[in-house]
Amino acid sequence: MRRHLRFRTPIGIPEGYIRLESGDFGWDYIIRNYDGRYHLIQTDYDYAGIASTFGWRGHTHGETDGTIDCPVCGRKVGTMLASAQNYLDNNVGKMVPDPGYFDGE
Ligand SMILES: [Zn+2]
Repeated sequence: MRRHLRFRTPIGIPEGYIRLESGDFGWDYIIRNYDGRYHLIQTDYDYAGIASTFGWRGHTHGETDGTIDCPVCGRKVGTMLASAQNYLDNNVGKMVPDPGYFDGE
């Protein structure tokens, strides 16, 4: 009997997905692609964007991506980044479809 082999990666990420992982330092993160490639995220200004990719909806006025004070309510960057980082810490291991982090590489 013939068996059909399904595509599997040794790291357990479905094709087309990325996974949030914690980095080596405790304050950094890794975005790993299903094929094993990864980006190291070490800049706190990246946290809001990364958190949004993984479902963070901590700030919804829409006028800020979390890297400038909100022009609507005045919420500070530091507050938003702390919220984003907290979200990331609580969602390590989450997998979402790759929105294009690994395109063109
Ligand atoms: Zn706001």
